[in-house]
Amino acid sequence: MSTTSHPPLPKSIIIVGSGVFGLSTALSLSKRASFSPSEITLIDRSPFPSPDGSSIDTSRIIRADYADPAYASLAAAGQEIWRQQEANQLGGEGRYSESGLVLVSNKGSDNEIYVQKSFHNVLDINKGTENEGSVKELPSRREIEETVGTRGGSGDWGYSNTRSGWADAEAGMLFLRRQVEALKRVEFLTAEVASLVFSGSNTTGVRFKNNSTISADLVILATGAWTPTLIDLRGRAQASGQVLSYLPISDAEQERLGKMPVLLNMSSGMFIIPPKNNLLKVARHNYGYSNPISIPNPEGEGQIKVSVPRTALSDPNLWIPHEGEAACRQALREMIPSLGDRPFTKTKICWYTDTPTGDFIITYHPSYSNLFLATGGSGHGYKFLPVIGDKIVDCIEGRTPEEFKEKWAWRKEAVQNVLTADGSRGGRPGMLLEEELKKGSKL
Ligand SMILES: Cc1cc2nc3c(=O)[nH]c(=O)nc-3n(C[C@H](O)[C@H](O)[C@H](O)COP(=O)(O)OP(=O)(O)OC[C@H]3O[C@@H](n4cnc5c(N)ncnc54)[C@H](O)[C@@H]3O)c2cc1C
Repeated sequence: MSTTSHPPLPKSIIIVGSGVFGLSTALSLSKRASFSPSEITLIDRSPFPSPDGSSIDTSRIIRADYADPAYASLAAAGQEIWRQQEANQLGGEGRYSESGLVLVSNKGSDNEIYVQKSFHNVLDINKGTENEGSVKELPSRREIEETVGTRGGSGDWGYSNTRSGWADAEAGMLFLRRQVEALKRVEFLTAEVASLVFSGSNTTGVRFKNNSTISADLVILATGAWTPTLIDLRGRAQASGQVLSYLPISDAEQERLGKMPVLLNMSSGMFIIPPKNNLLKVARHNYGYSNPISIPNPEGEGQIKVSVPRTALSDPNLWIPHEGEAACRQALREMIPSLGDRPFTKTKICWYTDTPTGDFIITYHPSYSNLFLATGGSGHGYKFLPVIGDKIVDCIEGRTPEEFKEKWAWRKEAVQNVLTADGSRGGRPGMLLEEELKKGSKL
């Protein structure tokens, strides 16, 4: 493996992928004086906002409630920005709501430890501040149900944190895009990148599906769950599909449930975020499905097998597998019993870019010069929208924050199976999307 380095100042930069990682990087590069002479091109295969990108949805949880203190502290810094509620700020116009979070686990499950560590981390964050009382232990199901206020609940131990909440994910991304556009530094291209262009071990640009190419001094890959189709990430990152189900609710239900906290059970992975615009979402955060198919080796000859996202974009009639819908149904019955039997009118599979530890991959590629990776969101990257771009650009400049040096680095050893072991995942590992779909979908 050759040692790689970045050019002192790339005259031209291509960012592939306009999700949280790519777009926030574009904003930070545009603002940073050291990159003012650089031409920046941002490429996405879909017109913005990408309909099947992970960063685009009705809602995402915004929490500093992490078992890992480094992510807890970075998330807390991001939340300070989410909390700015003026219309011209990220958190304004309903883009962020501090509804509170009830984080729970089932007694005896492996994920109890995550919730306990997270509890202590958020207690520490608030210690000695005016927010000291915002985190409260919920030692039984009765207390959990009283706090959730829907006559339902989940789990049997947990805590509530009134300083966590949720974001309107698509609205947050639209706001970010407007910020980038306003600086007039970035050229936006809508085109699918088919492959990277290498000259020996040097990355010189990207090739599009129509075989045309563009070159740049630095290529930043921020293609989320599709990244393993453009560079070999076997054993380091893998696309995992997660289920989401949506149901319409009345004005009266919106009024009532709009005030509930986010409820997340780390043992089952099931969660509900307060509804918006009369639409409620039930979703699952667990090991998910993989969708392994053979693709041309992005770095050379032959074929390799990787999990590739399958979404409604290529498969408009895609409905989640029976087992996933059954899990959403059960969670709805448990968490909001009054809506327990209301049919789901829409479902979706959204793709995580999972890494073995749940850490992001924000680093130069170890074998190809001028290639930088900004990916590996592992199902928790959205909340960092206000801060991750600056961190990515710090890493590009060789100033990776000390606490993330090891976490965000290229893993030296590839693992056999990527199953995120950050303590936040539950469920059945190793589910294959194709197999589960064959068992049936639509209850
Ligand atoms: C169901 C679900 C729930 C989640 N919940 C939360 C949560 O509650 N809180 C939280 O903080 N995070 C959450 N996350 C995680 C978070 O949404 C992701 O970590 C984050 O959005 C990832 O951003 P990204 O930029 O890496 O990927 P994406 O947003 O997917 O962006 C990648 C972009 O690359 C483009 N692209 C791909 N291939 C190509 C190509 N070949 N050529 C050109 N363009 C290409 C795509 O069109 C896409 O726009 C959740 C994720 C999912 C799926």
